[in-house]
Amino acid sequence: MSRQIGIMGGTFDPIHEGHLITAEAVRSGLGLDTVLFIPAAVPPHKRHQQVASAQDRYIMTQLAVCSNPHFIASDIELRRKGASYTVDTIRELRAYYGAGTEFYFFIGADAINDLDTWHRVDELLQLCRFVTATRQGTELDVTRLHERFGDAGCQRIHRIDTPQLEISSTDIRHRVHEGKSIRYLVPQAVREYIEKEGLYL
Ligand code: ATP
Ligand code: MG
Repeated sequence: MSRQIGIMGGTFDPIHEGHLITAEAVRSGLGLDTVLFIPAAVPPHKRHQQVASAQDRYIMTQLAVCSNPHFIASDIELRRKGASYTVDTIRELRAYYGAGTEFYFFIGADAINDLDTWHRVDELLQLCRFVTATRQGTELDVTRLHERFGDAGCQRIHRIDTPQLEISSTDIRHRVHEGKSIRYLVPQAVREYIEKEGLYL
């Protein structure tokens, strides 16, 4: 049987329980062996939205995932200079893991409706499957996806029920800045790292 790997990409500034709970729901729902957490290098024009350094975001991701034997933090996009297109990351992963590996790329329900605008999206849909969570307030634009990708393409876009958590990195950064508690919103080791390094103050 071929290996099945989930991919959770994000800025992870910082990684939080919403990411972890969603990833675990996707992993167990689809029966995946592994989920790779891939912090993104942030393009220069988005630097103002990013607060912690790539290294801090990667370390926090490692701290968050290390207790789950199915989770792995990957610095594949950080080792490449500049921002990466998902299609290039998946190509590199396929070369590494072998063509028999099936990849499931997680994408939030807010982002999936814009999938048709992604770089080399047709090639990307050949290289990996997509998984999206049913997230409150966002409806999947089935008509738009169908018009663009047809039946065959849509069969490679999966939906999975996940617990809905209104947790975001933006809110966590604001909370730290305002001196509020982030306990239980992020794993304890991540909270301790944020405190020790004085991030988001
Ligand atoms: P920010 O507030 O800085 O945008 P974020 O919380 O949205 O951060 P990202 O690193 O941008 O986190 O998200 C990475 C991926 O995780 C995206 O696909 C996003 O849709 C998803 N995601 C983020 N928060 C949640 C959540 N609470 N539940 C489910 N998925 C989430
Ligand atoms: Mg976001």
